[in-house]
Amino acid sequence: MSAPEVKYTQIFINNEWKNSVSGKTFPTINPSTGEKTCAVQEGDKADIDLAVKAAREAMKLGSPWRKMDASQRGRLMYRLAELVDRDAEYLARLETVDNGMVIRTSRTSMKRGADLLRYFAGWADKVHGKTIPIDGDYFCYTRREPIGVVGAIVPWNFPIPLLFKKLGPTLCCGNATVIKPAEQTPLTAIYIGALCKEAGFPPGVVNIVPGYGPTAGAAISEHMDVDIVTFTGSVEVAKIIQQAAGRSNLKHVAIESGGKSPNIVFADADMAYAVEVSHNAINTHSGQVCLAGSRTFVQEDIYDEFVKRSVERAKKRVVGDPYDEKTESGPQIDQEGYDKVMEMIESGKQQGAKLECGGNRMAGKNGYFVEPAVFSNVQDDMRIAREEIFGPVQQIIKFKTIEEVIERANRTSFGLAASVLTKDIDKAITIANSVQAGIVWVNIYGVVPTQAPFGGFKMSGLGREGGEDVLNEFCEVKTVIVKIPGHQGISKL
Ligand code: ADP
Repeated sequence: MSAPEVKYTQIFINNEWKNSVSGKTFPTINPSTGEKTCAVQEGDKADIDLAVKAAREAMKLGSPWRKMDASQRGRLMYRLAELVDRDAEYLARLETVDNGMVIRTSRTSMKRGADLLRYFAGWADKVHGKTIPIDGDYFCYTRREPIGVVGAIVPWNFPIPLLFKKLGPTLCCGNATVIKPAEQTPLTAIYIGALCKEAGFPPGVVNIVPGYGPTAGAAISEHMDVDIVTFTGSVEVAKIIQQAAGRSNLKHVAIESGGKSPNIVFADADMAYAVEVSHNAINTHSGQVCLAGSRTFVQEDIYDEFVKRSVERAKKRVVGDPYDEKTESGPQIDQEGYDKVMEMIESGKQQGAKLECGGNRMAGKNGYFVEPAVFSNVQDDMRIAREEIFGPVQQIIKFKTIEEVIERANRTSFGLAASVLTKDIDKAITIANSVQAGIVWVNIYGVVPTQAPFGGFKMSGLGREGGEDVLNEFCEVKTVIVKIPGHQGISKL
């Protein structure tokens, strides 16, 4: 199996393909080989301005999109989901060349993207207000109206699911959008532009502008005519975006920004199962997952055995050609991502953690492949236990009691996810109720349902994506009060 032909590399505005105003392009690199796949049109402020204008036009009262029945909006979304299903194999192969994710994960990504669309399509005609029994002779009701123009800034780690987590609520609530995919992985998002047109969305509803963060991304967050920015990425950039929102038009900001999630293994857990779950919690997609279980807390009675078995498992992990069906992990996304992982491994060694295995560049590979690493003797204050590494680097940390592990698990500025592995229901529920995290798993890791809310406590985010809760972020609530005749229909006029 090989890389597919790239069909679209331009900017998508108003259902039309355009070159960038500046005439510039940027290369997209295949992380498995380090080689250029193709040149993509490089959107910048001028292109974002055109895209926002198109989106605003689509949101005008009386426009086809504003006049469309909510149920019809839902039908267009179902149609888009069907088109994603139709082209899923092509999209999966395109993702693997752009992102380096193993083909099985790429396929799951496409299915998940289509499922997200279908879930939100179902909401389209169910986003409604309330009638409220206020004091006095009034009829009071609320309307949930579209917020307006949504700026969506998407990361590279799961380009399609994370794009549809934003596009789903955007469309079902009746908004229009300008999407900026990550510069590392623009190709599948651009292709979605063609599918939106084919599905029948009116011009301007979905606009896609590939480009870099500090230029195209910043132009969205600084824009005076964008009503909300929905962002997934690093804490550093999240802060820049929030500041830009404050400096410009006080646009809403929805953020999902990573974690350092505790995965807590008690001595009573099934050892073989816990080792496997914990290994995958940090190694899935080469550790490039915001909700990765990047602090493995293991109770002291089983610590040594757990480390030994985790090392055996890590050494067996199949890392290599992402198009090979048997491969479990592909490369890191790019040179920068690779360098960051290597730098963190070095800091772990220097701060006194024991590197039990891995941590080298894979021999004989030109891409950014890293051997899965396992650290033992990790202390809470080491950088590898505090900072997001975004790589296949497992930190195994010893703990004694439940009180202690709760306190230590929460001693972080992040709060995205947590998990507990135990056969004791009391321990499980105590952990679930005590950890500061947007999602907690018991005896499993990494299940993120399309139907449930997902987001972070503390610096892991603002707001929730997924589930019904996200709809609050993408609507404005309007209260309408109507003077009516008095109670029982007897007028006081
Ligand atoms: P990562 O560190 O995972 O690459 P980033 O936070 O750098 O994550 O990037 C996530 C998304 O944010 C990408 O689409 C990127 O282009 C965009 N981005 C980066 N810098 C900025 C910025 N200054 N303003 C707006 N968007 C940005």
